[in-house]
Amino acid sequence: MSVWAILVAAGRGERLGLDRPKAFANLGEEPMLAESLRRLDACPWIDAIVLVAPPGWEEPAILLAEEEGCGKVRACVAGGELRSDSVRAGLAEVADDAVVVLVHDAARPLLSDEVVERVLAPLSEGWDGAVPGLPVGDTLKRVGGDGRVEETVSRDGLWAVQTPQAFAADAFRRAYSPSNSLLQATDCAGHVEAVGGRVRVVEGDPRLLKVTTSTDLERVAEMLA
Ligand code: C5P
Repeated sequence: MSVWAILVAAGRGERLGLDRPKAFANLGEEPMLAESLRRLDACPWIDAIVLVAPPGWEEPAILLAEEEGCGKVRACVAGGELRSDSVRAGLAEVADDAVVVLVHDAARPLLSDEVVERVLAPLSEGWDGAVPGLPVGDTLKRVGGDGRVEETVSRDGLWAVQTPQAFAADAFRRAYSPSNSLLQATDCAGHVEAVGGRVRVVEGDPRLLKVTTSTDLERVAEMLA
């Protein structure tokens, strides 16, 4: 079974307020991208990696992969305006004989082999995709523009979903085919679900928090220390 990973790192990350894209924000001594890249490369379940860099940052991304000795990187391409554009650009570089495509956000540096193993397992049981998730713990409210609470939403059965997300390659290609290019979804699983794919949730990992603000970056740095 050939497993290809697409590492999406092309977001601008404006909320970090830096002069560089989020993937190149410093996490300790290195750009944040180095952490997830090294972990994916070292993961025994991953055969090949496509790196999706911010437009104009392909060269530094390739250099970083070389410095880190990441021998599984097969291609590095520029991402697009939306995350789904970046995923599509990465998918174009995945080999035709790939059996599984796994997509991971570079903004979630603390990837573990265990979570990769958990999302791959359901694919051999016939699922089209598997995503890590955590049951929602907070109370959820729908809030209007003026800040008034309109409704308290039941959190029964609601999960917050993370990456890495793994998919059977044929289902994934169908979801991202040009005929489905107008589909809107905030994650890859949403695209696969929209074309009728069966996706299951497996246990996620609180360490897979997504870096959006500088506080998140500090939290990840503390977890690494
Ligand atoms: O913006 P957000 O943090 O939700 O993005 C999640 C992941 O998707 C990040 O790793 C980011 O680099 C990536 N992304 C991308 N291309 C975009 C937007 C986001 O590769 N246009």
